[in-house]
Amino acid sequence: MKNSTLSQRDLSVLWHPCTQMHDHESFPLIPIKSAKGVWLEDFEGNRYLDAISSWWVNLFGHANPDINAALKAQLETLEHVIFAGFTHETAINLAEKLVDLTPAGLSRCFYADNGSSAVEVALKMSFHSWQNQGQTRKTKFITLENSYHGETLGALAVGDVALYKKTYAPLLMDVITVPSPDCYFREKNEAWADYSTRQFAHLDNTLQQYAGEICAVIIEPLVQCAGGMRMYDPIYLTLLRDACHKYNVHLIADEIAVGFGRTGTLFACEQASISPDFLCLSKGLTGGYLPLSAVLTTDAIYDAFYDNYANQKAFLHSHSYTGNALACRAALATLTIFETQHIVDANLLLAAKMTALSKRFIDHAHVSEVRQTGMILAIELVKDKRSRAPYPWQERRGLQVYQYALQKGVLLRPLGNVIYFMPPYVITHEELNVMFDIAWQAITSATQH
Ligand code: PMP
Repeated sequence: MKNSTLSQRDLSVLWHPCTQMHDHESFPLIPIKSAKGVWLEDFEGNRYLDAISSWWVNLFGHANPDINAALKAQLETLEHVIFAGFTHETAINLAEKLVDLTPAGLSRCFYADNGSSAVEVALKMSFHSWQNQGQTRKTKFITLENSYHGETLGALAVGDVALYKKTYAPLLMDVITVPSPDCYFREKNEAWADYSTRQFAHLDNTLQQYAGEICAVIIEPLVQCAGGMRMYDPIYLTLLRDACHKYNVHLIADEIAVGFGRTGTLFACEQASISPDFLCLSKGLTGGYLPLSAVLTTDAIYDAFYDNYANQKAFLHSHSYTGNALACRAALATLTIFETQHIVDANLLLAAKMTALSKRFIDHAHVSEVRQTGMILAIELVKDKRSRAPYPWQERRGLQVYQYALQKGVLLRPLGNVIYFMPPYVITHEELNVMFDIAWQAITSATQH
């Protein structure tokens, strides 16, 4: 079978996510036949290094033997069962593990089936818990500039990436958007912590003014991923946690992208020693195998819903695939790998290797910044290094990087003009060398004219 045969069949019936389908008149779709470790293989034997973990989900490689074995065992006993009125051991095991591993105070686990749904759950639970407590004026959410929380309407409303949000603005609830701690904008020589602290004043003022109407602040801890891998200092989270306590507002930590070892700790919140009121998890949760998400919350929130049925306080939210047994089993197998193979420690070495390999990009004539938080490393391309004037989006420089790298066997998927690496944790040092070498060539090629 040739790639083009499948590609033609695909393009006559399918519609792909986050894609202008017209682009495929000039850029071929790539049908993948199989994958192993960090490598994807197409129908013509070409291999591609998955440098972005298939949209940030894959942690321990494709066709991971441990996760495969766990799923096969689960298939023999239970694939799925309704999760209202019924339960099963795998879902319980996973919830116990998540409660155990996540920051202190998160004692309840509510399952959903993708990241956006987890965000919807957290928003609804926060609002509803205030309603149940008679705080009916609390109806609004605070979010940060350049944040991203998913594509469903509630999640889109609390995001701030214009590319995804602008068209739908008339459909979206009103939110309060405050300036971000994004350290790309710090003064020359200003420390990350100083800039992030300075930026916190905006949020503090907003809370002071509107706390009585605010349900929660929602935030991506440490890295605004879809917003171009923009990063900030953990001090911002510490200040935010204190302020949310002070003003009686919930804190929703969306660790859908940054959870599970991405930032150097199992959860990003650990770097600020904070516990949010809601923690949203998905993506890496199942090692990249199956859709699953979880919202962890506190006893206090749970108790705000716990009452006689007649008092009508229950959280009547559901998804058909809630607590799917196969997905939960993949998640358990993933967490076992973290424990038995000491992944968080092992990642420190990988992250250090990434730092070393990224050094030469700093002086590139069209790179304004190289930034890193753990296993996320981003390179910001600009038209003019001194003024940091960006390339016009119409030039699609990132796409040129993507195409060049793909030809050479590396899957990068730049966010506009930001080239980033977010590889599976099973990547070897040699593979990291290949990834950075090809990125260098791709960036050089895409910026030379
Ligand atoms: N929150 C964050 C921080 C994300 O990065 C994403 C996905 N990129 C989502 C939410 C939405 O997750 P999903 O795509 O599974 O709906």
